[in-house]
Amino acid sequence: MPRPPLLPSALTSSPRRTLLKAGGTLLLSVVAPLPASAAQILAVRVWPADDYTRVTLENDSDLKTEHFLVPDPPRLVVDIDGLDLNNTLKSLVAKVEPNDPYIKQVRVGQNRPRVVRLVFDLKEEIKPQVFTLAPVGTYKHRLIFDLYPVREADPIAALIAKGEWSPGDGTPTAVPAEPTPVQQPVPDPVGRIEAEIAAMNGTPPVAPPPSPGKSLIKPKPPVGNVVRMVTIALDPGHGGEDPGAIGATGTREKDIVLAVAKRLKTKLEALPNTRVMLTRDGDYFVPLGTRVEKARKVQADLFVSIHADAFTVPTARGSSVFVLSEKGATSTAARWLANDQNKADMIGGVNLARHDRQLASVLFDLSTTAQINDSLKLGKAVLGEIGGINRLHKAAVEQAGFAVLKAPDIPSILVETAFISNPEEEAKLKDDGYQDQLANAIAKGIKRYFSANPPMAKSRTT
Ligand SMILES: [Zn+2]
Repeated sequence: MPRPPLLPSALTSSPRRTLLKAGGTLLLSVVAPLPASAAQILAVRVWPADDYTRVTLENDSDLKTEHFLVPDPPRLVVDIDGLDLNNTLKSLVAKVEPNDPYIKQVRVGQNRPRVVRLVFDLKEEIKPQVFTLAPVGTYKHRLIFDLYPVREADPIAALIAKGEWSPGDGTPTAVPAEPTPVQQPVPDPVGRIEAEIAAMNGTPPVAPPPSPGKSLIKPKPPVGNVVRMVTIALDPGHGGEDPGAIGATGTREKDIVLAVAKRLKTKLEALPNTRVMLTRDGDYFVPLGTRVEKARKVQADLFVSIHADAFTVPTARGSSVFVLSEKGATSTAARWLANDQNKADMIGGVNLARHDRQLASVLFDLSTTAQINDSLKLGKAVLGEIGGINRLHKAAVEQAGFAVLKAPDIPSILVETAFISNPEEEAKLKDDGYQDQLANAIAKGIKRYFSANPPMAKSRTT
């Protein structure tokens, strides 16, 4: 994510805006007359994903639209006012891929003078969200069509269908006794996790098979003998319309962090009883509130957001780890960074009506002290490991008001892997070997956290 400046120059140096402020409407009409011609589509983009398909029409003014659904076969019809058909808009037809989850094809035509009609032929029924986004950053006005499936998939069922979810679902599962004395008086969760880590390192503890005919679950099983699946939510930042920070050679933060998250997923899933949910597994935009909501829906034990940093001067460098701050941020830079990170929804594009509902369900009264304490422990463990492979930007875990860290019941950290705006670190971030080292370091930090803070037994409540 980019550090300051907070406002891209495009937002502050518009000549028309300056004229309006300086001279009023007369000057505006003489010097910068508004175009009398129809609005122009400047760019069209399609972002297909399992979650939803987004179609973006970038244009030079705020467009008025009407839309309706037609059944049998399902179609979404959109009429856009004040628009003449141009080649850019026509190119939308070729931009829909045959494997798009929701759109079969798009047809575009001049329905009547100054009204363009788009017909989306659909693969299944959808509920559309059609909304506009005001200019931000390098983007002009955007008209957005988000095509959501009518039946919202159960996130766990969807992961199972993709073969990406190990069974367990919080149901306590008996495991063979550890090779520790049977008469051990206290449960030993730390020992169990240590044994699991030992197993990872190729020194598996000897586990006798359970005796047949004996109930595997005792009425009150000691914690040390009960293993439940640990669920880790990994959150690759940005995506889709929101590229995140961009390096001097064009490296996009959204691509790097997805690659690192996928490597980390593989490493974590090699641990016993560990499964991983990615908040996005492709190049599409996920609003900040939705990321947290997704983690809560799978009852994640940890939330790890992955980013790459950027600053106005190319010399800034090093990795950082952030946790939520209860009040304000620990440094001005952290506050800037939080503002910028939280701006992702403006850049990536959020339907505000829907966003409010999501925020309401996620960001309720935060009793955050316990969450922050756990997050600090996790953050320290991860920062310590990353310190072994990269210079640290700050020696300690930092705190800021990131929206994405606000799940009140999930220890959450945000890792700034390195500065993509630093040419040396940009090169590292693109490097397979370095991405692997990063993923290893974060995985080790997570293991270290769990060995000191073993997950408590919990049952699914939903
Ligand atoms: Zn970022």
